[in-house]
Amino acid sequence: MIPDSFIEELKNRCDIESIVSPYTNLKRTGRNLKGLCPFHSEKTPSFVVYPENGSFFCFGCGAGGDIVTFVRMAEHLEYTEAIRFLAQKTGMPMPEDAENDQTAKLKVRILELNREAARFFHATLISPKGAKGLQYLRSRGLSDKTIRRFGLGYAPEEWDALKKHLLAKGFTEYEMLEAAVIRKSEKGRSYDQFRDRVMFPIIDLRGGVIGFGGRIMGDGRPKYLNSADTPVFKKSRGLFAMNLAKATKQPRLMLCEGYMDAISVHQAGFDNAVATLGTALTAEQARLIAQYTQEVVICYDSDEAGQKATARANQLFEQTGVKVRVLSIPDAKDPDEYIKKFGAARFNKLVEESSNSTEYAIEKIRRKFPPDTDDGRVGFLKEFCILMSRIPNRVEADYYLGKTASELNVSREAMTSQVDSLRRRSQKKEQKKFDSDLKIYGQDVPAARQDLQRSANMRYALAEDKLIAALLKNPDYGRKLSEKIKPEQFATDFNKGIYSILLERINSGRSLDMISLSSELSIEQMNRISYLLATASQSNPSLEQAQQYADIILEKQRQRTNEQVGSMNEQQLREYIEQLAAGKK
Ligand SMILES: [Zn+2]
Repeated sequence: MIPDSFIEELKNRCDIESIVSPYTNLKRTGRNLKGLCPFHSEKTPSFVVYPENGSFFCFGCGAGGDIVTFVRMAEHLEYTEAIRFLAQKTGMPMPEDAENDQTAKLKVRILELNREAARFFHATLISPKGAKGLQYLRSRGLSDKTIRRFGLGYAPEEWDALKKHLLAKGFTEYEMLEAAVIRKSEKGRSYDQFRDRVMFPIIDLRGGVIGFGGRIMGDGRPKYLNSADTPVFKKSRGLFAMNLAKATKQPRLMLCEGYMDAISVHQAGFDNAVATLGTALTAEQARLIAQYTQEVVICYDSDEAGQKATARANQLFEQTGVKVRVLSIPDAKDPDEYIKKFGAARFNKLVEESSNSTEYAIEKIRRKFPPDTDDGRVGFLKEFCILMSRIPNRVEADYYLGKTASELNVSREAMTSQVDSLRRRSQKKEQKKFDSDLKIYGQDVPAARQDLQRSANMRYALAEDKLIAALLKNPDYGRKLSEKIKPEQFATDFNKGIYSILLERINSGRSLDMISLSSELSIEQMNRISYLLATASQSNPSLEQAQQYADIILEKQRQRTNEQVGSMNEQQLREYIEQLAAGKK
């Protein structure tokens, strides 16, 4: 089997546009691309490529899927062959070929080299040459124990101290350049990348030193210098201290803005802090975090830039289904400063009380419309009610309605009825859309025209479609939906198969990305899924709406039961009633 990590890497390297382009001429239309379908003959384009989720769909013949499905269909290949085809295109060695490959050897050398460099930096730090660095770290409140735990170091103020050291240890200049610990001037002379900086080794989940962050101690620029991307290091993917935080017993991870914050939080007794490498959080990092925890506390700086970054991180985590809490830090600019001023215990309390993302959103509205003026109140209440109407969980919404009503001294009933009417309006809209879909699909999904079971159960099949689309977009609905409806209760076998695979993957914490799904789903199933995503691209149903689709499907069950009851003999009927009484049905 091909590891998920390999598929993930493949997805990052191949964009669908460049894979599809050789087969048809694509033109941009808004966010998508359009062209003549390579799988059936047509004169007007009905083949659409969706770069946002890496899928394609042809409205003419119903062909659709991810890049792997595309290659399978276009080149008539089996799954593994298609992966190999794509890997070759991007220059990635297939997992089984990797051992005897040049790049794999180079990667091993770079990891050895980095480890040696980290040793050198640390040894320098605790030698007379590193006094300046050691003094700086201590002045930032780090204990010697913490300095050792994180393997911190010092890069001396010389042009080639590290280079000389590594040459003596048998590493070549080529390897050093590949590891990005030295660089070359225009005249072709090479020199150390990091000079006169305190050094933070970045360690991956397997314990390998993959790169470095270097911080200047005075006012120079840049304040932080990170390793450039190398064969073993991608800045957009790495997380500082993830190697330590992944082993935490805490139910959550804390995401900090920089190395110093994360280290300071660790020293204060939290072994669950991680930090991005001096850049904004990326979708890849959010997914990595989602693999290790159900909940994340964002501990960014309290300044405006920090708050913007928080909002963005919040959005990225929403897509992964991780629960988000936001730490607001009063009277300090960042966690590091807060801990120094008020101590670890107070910081702990702050984390315990940190707000969840709903509270954060309310806080944002409050800042936009300060409710202490009449105008502000009107604006606040309007946006607050819209926010509440979008919260799928009614109990949660009720809680905030009550709290806000008493805080602002307004009628709770009035607000509740406002929220209810907003909810009804959006449900009606959804219902209308469902009905109009029902009309359009008189001819149904192109590929499913021959599916008799589907055409006999159109209403339920469409509800199943909608439910599957909702689940694809919101894997976090999986648990609630699986409690409500089991795959066996689906009306069509085709959708039943898809639904059960999706639930299995969610339960085992695996991705529902198109490309990941193509390892388990058939070409026909991939066609259908891409159709569902293509037709549902504008809307994202709430959990409540998804549960309504489940209710529609379950009607079929009840109808079936009624038919069965109608044809039961007396003995069967008695048993059935006894079962009902025992609560089994
Ligand atoms: Zn087509």
